[in-house]
Formats: sequence, C-alpha cells, structure tokens
Amino acid sequence: MHELSIATEICRCVERATESARKEGGAGSRVKCVSVRVGELSGVDPEALLFAWEAAVRDTPLEGARLEIERIRAKIRCRGCGAESGMDFPGAVCPACGSAEAEIAGGMEMDVISAQVEDEN
Ligand SMILES: [Zn+2]
Repeated sequence: MHELSIATEICRCVERATESARKEGGAGSRVKCVSVRVGELSGVDPEALLFAWEAAVRDTPLEGARLEIERIRAKIRCRGCGAESGMDFPGAVCPACGSAEAEIAGGMEMDVISAQVEDEN
C-alpha cells in the first residue's frame, strides 16, 4: 500500500526531528499531533493515509499521536501572464489572458508541517 510507506516515512521524519528534543528535554515529551500538507495532485488519499498512520505509529514513540491532514487544492500558474488559478475551469485555460500554457503551481505537495509535542511531567 502506497499510503503505508508514506505514513512510515512521516513517522520516521517526525521521530528524527523530535529525538534531539527528547534528549534535551528529558524522556517525558510525547508527540501529540503531527500536521501534514497533502496536495490534490500528490496521489495521496487522505483517508488511506489516516488509516495507514495508525499502523505506522504502532509500537513506535509516536503511538497515539494524531495525524492532521491539510488538503491543498491544485493550482496552475499561467506562463503568459503569471496569473494563478484553480484547475476547475474548462480546458485549464488562463481566465486572465486565455493562454493554455500553464504549469502546476500547487497541489503536488506532501509535506510534514509540524509536530506538536506534549510534556508528560
Ligand atoms: Zn494568463
């Protein structure tokens, strides 16, 4: 399953990021919530990712951490005039100048934004 490897990757990434904080701040800090940004065009299904997350964090320091998914709408940028717009107009033609020369400006992302750490002390 595609989403499981992504969830595992997020989990590892957050573990690495919080490891030093754990060492410095004592062993009590737990990751409470992880925020990720998933673009419409990233090929990641948020529902499947949530499901995979539960499996990925099991028996890791992140067990019990919530995954918050922010969905990013697909966006294109016109090569002619630089206008940015959504992809839902017919034929992906720039609404500002009518050019069909466009590039993807958003919606491909799959990023970890933040991890919220809670102190158990
Ligand atoms: Zn344009």
